[in-house]
Amino acid sequence: MATFNLDIPFDYRFTCWFCGEGSHKTIVATITTHQQYYSVNMPICDECKSYKCHIDVQSLVKLRELIKESMVKQSAKALSIGANWTEKELQESDLNGSAFDGFKKSGWSMYLIAKARVNYSGWALSINGIPIEGNLIDEEFEFDGLSFTSFVSMLDYLSNAFSLNKEFLKRVLAIYGNNRAIEAVKFCRLIPHYSRSEREKAVNDLIESFREKESLAYKKNIVD
Ligand SMILES: [Zn+2]
Repeated sequence: MATFNLDIPFDYRFTCWFCGEGSHKTIVATITTHQQYYSVNMPICDECKSYKCHIDVQSLVKLRELIKESMVKQSAKALSIGANWTEKELQESDLNGSAFDGFKKSGWSMYLIAKARVNYSGWALSINGIPIEGNLIDEEFEFDGLSFTSFVSMLDYLSNAFSLNKEFLKRVLAIYGNNRAIEAVKFCRLIPHYSRSEREKAVNDLIESFREKESLAYKKNIVD
């Protein structure tokens, strides 16, 4: 089967389709639409290629998901700067000493670069001027201006950025629901959860408080 070259708009020459950084390499990926199956050369940067996701996976949808997951893991430190500081706070912080000089100077731009790479969504795909129809994005998860290609990836980010026990956060998120991730994170940050018994107690208390709220809402509905 022939491998096609993707159409590359002028503004995107030498650009990684996965993260928007400079690219001078390609990898082969497959795209399946309702009518067609394509094998395509996808422009990729050194960093995205170094994750080696293309060795195991060829489907572009899956590949994009895995590359973004690796990106979130690799950029954990840079992403956590934006989760814990504002630009102004960072500049005005009284972190002193040579260890912090570099951090104060370049920390915010490191965060912005990492954020832009994670959120980058590529350009519309076409081959010889013919658009490739089809949805390349499954479901995305959003938190504080960042898009994640999987729930696991969002968990990786949140547990790293806010130094939370990942298993604990996962259980708390299951109780709150993914659409209330901010509240779930706030809860985890407030509640001591260093030991297993502390985590068990916190989860049990949370379930109990949700039950109470539900039964109150139920009673209120009957009265109304
Ligand atoms: Zn890239």
